[in-house]
Amino acid sequence: MQDEIRSFLESPHGNFIGGKWGAPLEREEIPVKNPATEEVLAKVVSGDQGDVDAAVSAARQAFQSGQWSGLSPVARAKILSKWADLVEQHADRLGYIETLEAGMPHWLSTVTIRGFVAQHIRYNAEWANKITGETLPGRPSGREDSDWLVATLKEPIGVVAAITPWNAPLSILVLKLAPALAAGCTVVLKPSELTPLSAEYFVRLGQEAGIPDGVINLVQGYGPVVGQALAEHDGIDKISFTGSTAVGQKIIHAAAGNLKKVSLELGGKSPFIVFPDADIDAAVTGAGMGCFYLTGQNCMAATRAFVHKDIADAFLAKLVAFADSLKIGNGLEEGTFLGPVINDTQHAKVLEFIRKGVDEGATLLCGGKALDGPGYWVQPTVFADATPDMSIVRKEIFGPVLSVQTFDDDLDALVRNVNDNDYALSGSVWTKDIQRALSLAKKIDAGQMAINAHAAVSPETPFGGNKRSGWGREFGQDGIEAYYKKKAISIAL
Ligand code: NAD
Repeated sequence: MQDEIRSFLESPHGNFIGGKWGAPLEREEIPVKNPATEEVLAKVVSGDQGDVDAAVSAARQAFQSGQWSGLSPVARAKILSKWADLVEQHADRLGYIETLEAGMPHWLSTVTIRGFVAQHIRYNAEWANKITGETLPGRPSGREDSDWLVATLKEPIGVVAAITPWNAPLSILVLKLAPALAAGCTVVLKPSELTPLSAEYFVRLGQEAGIPDGVINLVQGYGPVVGQALAEHDGIDKISFTGSTAVGQKIIHAAAGNLKKVSLELGGKSPFIVFPDADIDAAVTGAGMGCFYLTGQNCMAATRAFVHKDIADAFLAKLVAFADSLKIGNGLEEGTFLGPVINDTQHAKVLEFIRKGVDEGATLLCGGKALDGPGYWVQPTVFADATPDMSIVRKEIFGPVLSVQTFDDDLDALVRNVNDNDYALSGSVWTKDIQRALSLAKKIDAGQMAINAHAAVSPETPFGGNKRSGWGREFGQDGIEAYYKKKAISIAL
């Protein structure tokens, strides 16, 4: 496998437009670094406005030709299922590439690709022939006495731009590609410039599965160039973005020109609430995994823990032991749980937040340090005595830093504190008292809550954020419905 990966890395990495792979010859290129070694893995072409125009035009032509949207849903589903088969067969290689470019443990990337990524393609393929319109008892005003048939049709939205981040490259781009393609849309994909290689390999498998030319187009490049050009482009009907809140806000402005539809999956600062009657060992593991999974570079990361004061000492002692037991290292090494953070900028940002945590008066219980390079390493870090005004509590750090606050029996105060944050993506409550758990799950502002689990996502379950965590929902029926537009037809009988 390693020889194949080496020859993939050494091959040219151009754009994929209208079914053709471009050579990056004599073009500006972007070096792609391994965050665990700081070595350059490969270089990919740095796309520009011309590439975006060509890709949008290819996607438009493919959409209008009907070669994809006009296929029977079952025929589309068959091709998508073949793609899922290929993704499963190549899970090890895809996972290896993700590990090289994003730093996550190889066991984790492989399991996620074989499970989550392939499952999402299949799940959406199965929706392709199940999205239906309705018939309605509508009678236009002034003509109520005449006979009418009113129906709705769901039509694919058209050409979609998918812009994705680096933290879980394939898990996120599949959330856009699978429903968009199942719905009959065509796509221009722009992955993060930090993790463009797994996206290329993934698109190559889609081509091998028989997705027609022009249906998926891939433009590599920097966000302010390629991403911005897509967000502004009049030839795009919908933009589906996952990334930071700041860039999401830019996309809203850029999309205003042609009023393209926008869906946004943005930052998070998820609460993790533990009551004294919870299974404490399970909650400790849940908090540790929930925060340190992907080295904290996870939008759902459990970064704000709220622990009842009666169990705080016991909980924290166990949490520190758990954090200290996690192996930090290159994702290709056996047993690694925490890989590196993605780059030097992110590394400096995380360490700066840790410094602020100490300066603002939180108690550093464990971690808090960088490890020697090469590689961008940060220890899993737990702060106790956190208060609502601290930077480590308010801001998305996107690193392995967990702040812990305590609460007493005043649950209204707890809910006020939990909801006092710009983000509202997900959260969890740990208790055996189901009434209390459900009551809190209802009162906490979030797109999804879990009880006695954290970040419990599945293809069937809608996912998305409120407040500055985003617009719209992915996963489930909502996820695919977002790639249709509804048309009403009123027939005078
Ligand atoms: P980012 O916003 O910096 O970049 C995301 C993508 O946007 C990249 O492809 C980037 O090139 C592109 N981009 C940058 N500037 C752009 C512009 N002006 N116009 C258009 N596109 C532009 O985010 P990131 O650092 O790659 O990812 C981390 C962020 O993603 C975190 O805030 C995290 O919470 C968020 N995220 C959210 C979810 C979710 O489902 N809610 C999932 C994963 C990550």
